[in-house]
Amino acid sequence: AYANETLKNKLVFNAENPLLLNFNENSLGMSQKAKQAIIDALPNAFRYPDDARSALISELGKEFKLSDKHITLGNGSSETIQAAVQFVANKAQKEGKAVQLIVPDPTFNYAELYAEPLGVKIVKVPVDKTLAFDLATMQKKAQEFDGISMVYLCNPNNPTAMLTPTAALTNWVKSAKENVFFIIDEAYAEFASTPEFTSAIALVEAGYKNLIVARTFSKIYALAGLRVGYGVAVPEVIADVDVFVSIDNTNTAGAVAALASLKDKAYVEYSRKSIDVSRQMVVDVLKELDIEYAPSYANFIFHKVKGDVKTYQNRMKEANIMVGREFPPALGWSRLTLGTPEEMSYFVSTLKAFRTKGWI
Ligand code: PLP
Repeated sequence: AYANETLKNKLVFNAENPLLLNFNENSLGMSQKAKQAIIDALPNAFRYPDDARSALISELGKEFKLSDKHITLGNGSSETIQAAVQFVANKAQKEGKAVQLIVPDPTFNYAELYAEPLGVKIVKVPVDKTLAFDLATMQKKAQEFDGISMVYLCNPNNPTAMLTPTAALTNWVKSAKENVFFIIDEAYAEFASTPEFTSAIALVEAGYKNLIVARTFSKIYALAGLRVGYGVAVPEVIADVDVFVSIDNTNTAGAVAALASLKDKAYVEYSRKSIDVSRQMVVDVLKELDIEYAPSYANFIFHKVKGDVKTYQNRMKEANIMVGREFPPALGWSRLTLGTPEEMSYFVSTLKAFRTKGWI
């Protein structure tokens, strides 16, 4: 019922219409209820989006059994990350303290991109041999610093799609000194429907003031082009972060689509299941071809490539498939977005053809 009609007609890929498996988008397309909500809201879109924003904030508050005051909306979770970085950098400046951002490497780099122009020192801590975060070293870097540290932790991580054990992350947040603030990016959390994953929102519920959790409607809800994300933190933190958020940042279409999507539990279930099927198809072929991969808990998977990653990427492009790039320092790995099962069957046959040519 949710299949995207336009997509069905697009399963022939060519240079003008390649299969896009490079930006972790959700090829299912948004829920029909989200589409209808946009259509219904259009006649009133000449007005400012206050009502639509408020309704979405309230629903998000309810979703997590928190309140409106625990939520900040963003023009994508990118804005939430940006505002959180600005809040901490500004706090350090006001208090006359040095400020650093500690990030695992590789990870999603927006916190870093927003921190750098503010003069924040960037401390990158390489992942370990298993591609897991080296939390002990990250923690040490924070302990050794007498200014303010912000720590960006993406869980599941992009580009590896791997989870960080809840206990390790939670223990650090709970035991951290007052000069450490955590930005926990859970852009892909909804895909991680496993008991191994607990959202850091539980720490917000428990009243911890040293974190904000960033979430998005771009991934499981397939609203990337409408730009809606949010942050969850205790009201005090939300008030501080909101100072750096663009006023009226969420547009009417995005807000109503997000609200309808949030209520459309069947769509979320469908979206998650579709990714599970796609992931299994890719895992099966990677196993068959004996290609190493990282355990995926998101709508993408990180796998090894034989030889140069750029050459592999170009060959896939010639086969009309755009795959993700290399993410140093994880050399020799490619990030593959999981599209629909139909799309992945095209990828699977292409990968098998690559093997017969000795390319993979
Ligand atoms: N966080 C992570 C880990 C991402 O991978 C992305 C986008 O790919 C974002 C945040 C930004 O998403 P958006 O601004 O669309 O919410």
